[in-house]
Amino acid sequence: MPTLPLPPGSTLGILGGGQLGRMLALAAARLGFDVAVLERDADSPAGRAAAHTIVGAYDDPAALEALAAVAKVVTFEFENVPSDSVLKLQALGVEVAPGPKALAVAQDRIAEKQFLNASGAPTVAFAAADTPEEAVAATAEMGAPVLMKTRREGYDGKGQRWVEHAADAAAAFAELGSVPVILEAPADFVRELSIIAVRGRDGATAIYPLAENHHEGGILRRSVAPAQVSEDLAFQAEKIAARVLKGLGYVGVVGIELFELKDGQLLVNEIAPRVHNTGHWTQDGCAVDQFEQHIRAVAGWPLGPTTPHARVEMLNLLGDEAHAWSKLAHEPETRVHLYGKREAKPGRKMGHVNKLKGL
Ligand code: AMP
Repeated sequence: MPTLPLPPGSTLGILGGGQLGRMLALAAARLGFDVAVLERDADSPAGRAAAHTIVGAYDDPAALEALAAVAKVVTFEFENVPSDSVLKLQALGVEVAPGPKALAVAQDRIAEKQFLNASGAPTVAFAAADTPEEAVAATAEMGAPVLMKTRREGYDGKGQRWVEHAADAAAAFAELGSVPVILEAPADFVRELSIIAVRGRDGATAIYPLAENHHEGGILRRSVAPAQVSEDLAFQAEKIAARVLKGLGYVGVVGIELFELKDGQLLVNEIAPRVHNTGHWTQDGCAVDQFEQHIRAVAGWPLGPTTPHARVEMLNLLGDEAHAWSKLAHEPETRVHLYGKREAKPGRKMGHVNKLKGL
């Protein structure tokens, strides 16, 4: 087992080589750590900001052994880390954070909603279906419309379909690949919000102000934070975050996506056991940002302050939008963050900007 708190000069492992891994690696480097990234692609955004890349699949035993040989504390940038890989790393004496419970809950939309409701964090009504017949019956029982989502591996709005009539549920089930699904009642929300929270190894917690989020085609376009919210709403969100962190025995940063209903009630949409796109504003808006905070937590360091010092509009740069970097770099209120991706495919997250406004 590693010595905790992990001293500067140690190597910290990250599973995943995308932009979240890159920004985690940059934050870790600032605290004096070396980072080893495990990633299939030898030339990844995170790998180019890290001291080492171990090239391999996330479930490749040799790659996991190579990672464990250099890093005794490992974290990840995406929730679909195979659970066997976590067990393998743990068997090799590695401390993996966030832990297996958080991953199991976040990987299965049914387990996630059950955990949330059992913890006192409200969600929409839902049902599970493993066959087209079950999908039709459950839709009829809940009453259409319902939103059908694959239980596992959906992201950025992929793997979901609205079902307008119970009779259409079988076709939607087939379109989603004939895999187990969840059926969700529609959330009649007025706003989408999110809360980023963190828990340290000692159980200390810190919570950022809420962000207000706008999606297009299932992809986050824009967040504004701190969001304008009532005290009651902020209190509800903080209570939800505290319950999630405690219920999962969590270590690290979690992103919790919320629906604000007309009557002022908050429902949880989903939880991401990692740093989150709606927390990018903290890089230029808060004392300690979500990336450093996550590294502090997994390394067993004290958490830092989450105090905001600016209002931020975060805009994702998708595809060709990143080509405007020179114009954006001329704007005094704009902080530019680019991910070093080689190819600007349509809709691909290439970077983001944080536009600073007075608090
Ligand atoms: P998700 O992949 O679960 O984060 O969903 C992507 C987006 O779909 C959310 O950001 C919402 O805009 C919308 N959405 C998800 N679940 C529901 C729901 N139960 N009712 C209405 N809209 C939803």
